[in-house]
Amino acid sequence: MFVPRSLKIKRHANDDDGKSCVAKIIKSDPEDLQLDKSRDAPVDALVIEAATTPDRHSSESCPFPSPGGQLAEVHSVSPKQDAKDSHPSEEPVKSFSKTQRWAEPGEPVCVVCGRYGEYICDKTDEDVCSLECKAKHLLQVKEKEEKSKLSNPQKADSEPESPLNASYVYKEHPFILNLQEDQIENLKQQLGILVQGQEVTRPIIDFEHCSFPEVLNHNLKKSGYEVPTPIQMQMIPVGLLGRDILASADTGSGKTAAFLLPVIMRALFESKTPSALILTPTRELAIQIERQAKELMSGLPRMKTVLLVGGLPLPPQLYRLQQHVKVIIATPGRLLDIIKQSSVELCGIKIVVVDEADTMLKMGFQQQVLDILENIPNDYQTILVSATIPTSIEQLASQLLHNPVRIITGEKNLPCANVRQIILWIEDPAKKKKLFEILNVGRVGRLGQNGTAITFINNNSKRLFWDIAKRVKPTGSILPPQLLNSSYLHDQKRKEQQKDKQTQNDLVTGANLMDIIRKHDKSNSQK
Ligand code: AMP
Repeated sequence: MFVPRSLKIKRHANDDDGKSCVAKIIKSDPEDLQLDKSRDAPVDALVIEAATTPDRHSSESCPFPSPGGQLAEVHSVSPKQDAKDSHPSEEPVKSFSKTQRWAEPGEPVCVVCGRYGEYICDKTDEDVCSLECKAKHLLQVKEKEEKSKLSNPQKADSEPESPLNASYVYKEHPFILNLQEDQIENLKQQLGILVQGQEVTRPIIDFEHCSFPEVLNHNLKKSGYEVPTPIQMQMIPVGLLGRDILASADTGSGKTAAFLLPVIMRALFESKTPSALILTPTRELAIQIERQAKELMSGLPRMKTVLLVGGLPLPPQLYRLQQHVKVIIATPGRLLDIIKQSSVELCGIKIVVVDEADTMLKMGFQQQVLDILENIPNDYQTILVSATIPTSIEQLASQLLHNPVRIITGEKNLPCANVRQIILWIEDPAKKKKLFEILNVGRVGRLGQNGTAITFINNNSKRLFWDIAKRVKPTGSILPPQLLNSSYLHDQKRKEQQKDKQTQNDLVTGANLMDIIRKHDKSNSQK
């Protein structure tokens, strides 16, 4: 493997709003550009974005020869001598993965090796830790593209994939438009979707009804999102239309994607950055949301994210914030600190989500949320999501939302339509009552479809073996021999039969009446 012997660091004002610039670091020696001669590394793959700082003053550009004989343009600017600028931008870009540290929770992770993803690949917008990993990453991307060309030669011969349309407007899909009003009402009722508001668009039934870009549809499938959950069915089209929303949805009901999809579509077509803000009460939630957002946005152009959360060093977050990020995912305290330092300009924000609003209020963040929103010019869409809607949320909603749509989903946890298989793991005997609720498995085979439910149990629930067998057997379900032959099950069955016999004996019936009288007489005469 060849390693870079030297690095030339040149910066250029890559500045569409006059506020920031991107530093590019290019290896000087053509030989150095081949990290691995046995593999055909793309030469221009070794241009990497490095640290950026705001307010660069001057720039110059010069042609730089690439090993392929092509000219790569390299620019330089003089950095502002400012304390704020003395963060990682002045450090040399790391050449090797092994010289990079591991990521702290919440920090970007290198897509190749899992270390701290300090840089953003300028070709794919993915996080990488070093020049080495960037080259590897681009090779992987190239190999993947070639594989897909081989498996789909028709596509390879055809025109390159059509670029994204310049804008997106949500329109009800003909399938949805053609449904009768009572069919829609019936569907909402079956799925437990309650809607209040003026002129609320109909729910979607399939993600395809949103006419998302192909990449996004592909990402949804890749993440296992086959059909929308009830909250997604109603919230996505309303969100895509730009309406303010107050949604009540339980954790686990798919609410994150319900707000992320409108956020992604909105940010995708906005040129000003940052264009979307998601406020959430805890760092852990922020990390989860960013992970999900990255999964959904993979392959979409210019969709960088930043996490602005407490408990982690500020400089790397600031550094990333200056990379023209679209989707900000923040906890209120940290974002407010950054706003106070004037390190972020929020005038491009077009959509704001306040996630877990009830937790946010319980944690005392109300004023901080309001203070943050004060810094955003008025014409943004607001989505307020909360598991419960206490009076305090109603008050917050009345302050933040204009003519909102209220969406409440009753059916929690699982997508309902089209669920063909459900797998349950039962091991806590304390949850006996819940167990039988689950064993009804009413969630599978909805809307007239057949479905399969597989329930795993182990000896932790041995107290329930006979109960389970008794209840499930009459439904024709297959019970495993391990359960049917279990000594626990037989003990429980015997005990129950003895108890039944005893109960039978205690009952007075026509058949045993004379026996009871005789027994009674006998004991009396003995006395
Ligand atoms: P949430 O309620 O947003 O925390 O989502 C709970 C889990 O459901 C997450 O792991 C999501 O990845 C997953 N999820 C969300 N929407 C869907 C969907 N339509 N189909 C399958 N899984 C989903």
